[in-house]
Amino acid sequence: MSQRAEQRIETVAVTAGRPAGPGAPLTPPVVLNSTYRSGGSSYSYGRNGNPTWSAFEAALGALEGGHAIAFASGMAAVAAVIETLPVGAAVIVPRSAYTGTRLLFADLQSRGRIELRAVDISDTQATVAALDGAALLWIESPTNPLLEVADLPALLTAASDRGILSVVDNTFATPMLQRPLALGAGVVVHSATKYLGGHSDLLMGAAVTRDEALRERLLQRRTLHGAIPGAMESWLALRGLRTLPLRLERAQFNAGVLAARLREHAAVDLVRYPGLKDDPGHDRACGQMSGFGAMLAFEVADADTADALTARLTLIMDATSLGGVETTIDRRNKWAGDENVHPGLLRLSVGVEHVEDIWADLAQALF
Ligand code: PLP
Repeated sequence: MSQRAEQRIETVAVTAGRPAGPGAPLTPPVVLNSTYRSGGSSYSYGRNGNPTWSAFEAALGALEGGHAIAFASGMAAVAAVIETLPVGAAVIVPRSAYTGTRLLFADLQSRGRIELRAVDISDTQATVAALDGAALLWIESPTNPLLEVADLPALLTAASDRGILSVVDNTFATPMLQRPLALGAGVVVHSATKYLGGHSDLLMGAAVTRDEALRERLLQRRTLHGAIPGAMESWLALRGLRTLPLRLERAQFNAGVLAARLREHAAVDLVRYPGLKDDPGHDRACGQMSGFGAMLAFEVADADTADALTARLTLIMDATSLGGVETTIDRRNKWAGDENVHPGLLRLSVGVEHVEDIWADLAQALF
């Protein structure tokens, strides 16, 4: 344990969550079981726990610096966190954030389950002003799809000073680039479907916390709601996690190059990438992230121009989701819940291909 605390995060990604002891396999097995013989271990019924989930949880927990609880999807993790709140609780939610999260929260509000207060999460003053009397502050940073950066240290401190639970969706940054629990967040959530898994071959989610009582409540939500991950998905996600530092390093390098070139292109009206020096989120990102990530968004004139561009691409795939080794592009305004996004905004999830191949594909499609 003390040795692990001294390891750098790239090493932890490789070492954490491995079976220990002589004769143990180096990688945890996929345990496909609905039930276990009584006694001798903490595993009983398959909805309560599974050794393959535990291995993934140990690794992600070590990376984020808390106790991780794996879920069937990112949305299952989001829903479990919200379900820990009492009926009628006031929730501060970013006006611009992942559509699924916003749609879930809006649905809960429409049924009287929670009261929503929508804020511009990049406006620290306005967000802090909305906190009084709230039960939960929901932060996503950088946001999906606009790449806005919230002031994590300021917002997390403001929430904890008022005894308000804070949650950070760390899907875009991953623990490689920012560790919100160390900055005071109560919970970190992930769509493990994205960078953690990293190969577009699974759906999974996770919540991570340092608060033991909250962890118990989240575990109870998972067991009672049954939003459990599959053993195979957990095994794949852990396998993916081992190379997260490598994948992200390459994809992030590529994203930096592409963002700079896109910004110079005559057909591109706007690029959002926190790594660009004049991006509104740049200074904040420099202060709280160790890198700018591999997601970017750019705007062309309108929906038709964006769709025509996408149709001309041959390497970059037109697909939603993100965080895989392959570069994907998605015009967000076509999705329910993202109608307010500029019709010509394209979200690019930059992969690990050679950057010149990605650029060549973009350049031939942009005119
Ligand atoms: N959070 C963010 C930032 C996301 O982008 C997504 C999915 O795109 C989710 C949560 C939900 O995750 P999942 O699709 O795994 O349920």
